[in-house]
Amino acid sequence: MSLATAAGREEALESKYGLPRQVVFCRRCVMSNQRPCSSIEFLHTNTHKHRHLHIDEAGVCDACRMAGQKEQIDWNQREQELRQLLDQHRRSDGEYDCLVPGSGGKDSCYAAHILKYRYGMHPLTVTWPPGLYTDIGLKNFHSWITVGAFDNVTFRPNGRVHALLTRLSIENLLNPFQTFVLGQKNLAPKVTMRYGIKLIFYGENEAEYGNPIADNTSSLRDRAYYAFNDLSRVHLGGVSVPELRERYGLTLNDLLPYLPADPLELERSGIEVRYLGYYLKWTPQEAYYYAVEHCGFEANPFRTEGTYSKYNSLDDKADGLHYYTAYIKFGLGRASSDASQEIRNKHLTREEGVALVRRFDGEFPERYFREVMESIGMAPEQFLELCDEFRSPHLWRKEGNTWQLRHQVS
Ligand SMILES: [Zn+2]
Repeated sequence: MSLATAAGREEALESKYGLPRQVVFCRRCVMSNQRPCSSIEFLHTNTHKHRHLHIDEAGVCDACRMAGQKEQIDWNQREQELRQLLDQHRRSDGEYDCLVPGSGGKDSCYAAHILKYRYGMHPLTVTWPPGLYTDIGLKNFHSWITVGAFDNVTFRPNGRVHALLTRLSIENLLNPFQTFVLGQKNLAPKVTMRYGIKLIFYGENEAEYGNPIADNTSSLRDRAYYAFNDLSRVHLGGVSVPELRERYGLTLNDLLPYLPADPLELERSGIEVRYLGYYLKWTPQEAYYYAVEHCGFEANPFRTEGTYSKYNSLDDKADGLHYYTAYIKFGLGRASSDASQEIRNKHLTREEGVALVRRFDGEFPERYFREVMESIGMAPEQFLELCDEFRSPHLWRKEGNTWQLRHQVS
């Protein structure tokens, strides 16, 4: 078969979820144009349809362009802007003046600590805990609150509803994390409003990981991200709210923790949602060292499955499955994410990154697999079958009994 015919055949292969048919890898990092970018539509309406990582004519992805721009930024100027902002919000009447969402990972440790101790703010931390904390995750959470010394509001959702929604989001979207992500995202503005706080601080902007660069030109996040006008269009686990009520017998009260805030109420609240990463140069390694020193943060005692790192996303027993499903759907696993980030921060060369991806990407997260499945009432075999159904033909081919990626970074 000639090359042209082979290329023609590849073109003809079906691509699921609106993924670009032609797989292109960034020339600087190890990401490809298959990587999805989170969006409001993606989170709140149905489906997999989302934007994808943009790679320009020079073959460089938006996340790498961002990293380049970061080097041009006058960080002293940005810190001045931060001080001015905080001066407007700082309270001396004993009330909280900002909210930091997190579960005790290195980034939320760093954000809360620096706001309190370097800038004299009075943060309230808020946590939507993992469905199943790992031992190290729970330990880090306690250290954050105790060693770092913060007040914390933790919200634990109804376990039965959470398990059902998680199961649905795996069955319909092969996404073990959507339920958690929605709960976590929607909790912050609701708690903020209850406590009369006006400022929410996240660590990094997702543009760091390849959302469109335009999203990163301000520290302010659009409040619309937290609200939704038409509840009948909202989907959880790929199922619409009306259907969840009729077919699964869930009540609005059951669904409330996962639903976005009321847009009018949110508008009236005047809450500002900001990224600390806009003001302070943020690298995962430095956040890690900072969290170790000031909040008693500990890395994993063992290598994390699917990658080579020991300090990213450690707290949830379902983390590994989340990255594994991304590998199935987009051909990009956990090592691809970690290595791309470290290449951008110049901690790895691209060559080293490629070798790590080839060695670790797609390693099955065996350690907590059965426990996670049991917690949501799904048979392990069903999960594995679903994985096969969700493989897009333009990314995967079967050789004998094993699946092979058609395109690997090189
Ligand atoms: Zn890149």
